[in-house]
Amino acid sequence: MGRRRKKRAIRKPHWRERRPPKVFQCPVCGAVSVVVKIEENEDGTRTAFISCSNPKCRMRSKIDNVPRLFTPVDVYSMFMDLYTEGKIKIWFEEAEEIEMERESGGVSEEEEE
Ligand SMILES: [Zn+2]
Repeated sequence: MGRRRKKRAIRKPHWRERRPPKVFQCPVCGAVSVVVKIEENEDGTRTAFISCSNPKCRMRSKIDNVPRLFTPVDVYSMFMDLYTEGKIKIWFEEAEEIEMERESGGVSEEEEE
């Protein structure tokens, strides 16, 4: 009597692996608002687009011929190297031209922890 039933310990598998960060620090404005997007071109090469979503900054950059295995993290560190060495062109987008960059879905902003 009064014996507690052992709670069944259902272990939830940790499906969610730690994903690499998707947002990086901007070397220009310092905000963590840089997003890297890798797109495959028709000729099979890959181009990475680096953009800062800070409305006061809007830094943009681009790297062509990104190796196939590169993840956004790799692209970012490559970008930072090139930036530090002054070997990459960056520009700033005018505030008026707001580009919708979310169309090619998959990126949900629902992660709240
Ligand atoms: Zn910035």
